[in-house]
Amino acid sequence: MTDTTGINTAASPSGTGCAECDEADGWWLHLRRCAECGHIGCCDSSPGQHATAHFRETGHRFMQSFEPGEDWYWDYETQAVVDGPELAPPSSRPEGQTAPGPQGRVPADWKDLLHR
Ligand SMILES: [Zn+2]
Ligand SMILES: [Zn+2]
Repeated sequence: MTDTTGINTAASPSGTGCAECDEADGWWLHLRRCAECGHIGCCDSSPGQHATAHFRETGHRFMQSFEPGEDWYWDYETQAVVDGPELAPPSSRPEGQTAPGPQGRVPADWKDLLHR
């Protein structure tokens, strides 16, 4: 059983897109939600890798996917998938929002710009 101390099921998502990318007019592939404060960041394949950056800055170790239909958790400390509770809604970005997204900010050569 994973110790999920720190997860705050009452924290709402910070928005529908990566907080840092939205500020910098960037784009992302997939979205990740901090399970402690609700910060929305982008995945490690995205140019900005802002979800991992958020963990490095804050020490908030648990993240949940913010993609529709996905509810898996990741523990940055142990680098493992873990089980966690249901978080405050919404549990994902809007279904109509694209991945990569957001529409209009994704460059034509986005596939070449992903981290592997
Ligand atoms: Zn980002
Ligand atoms: Zn956080």
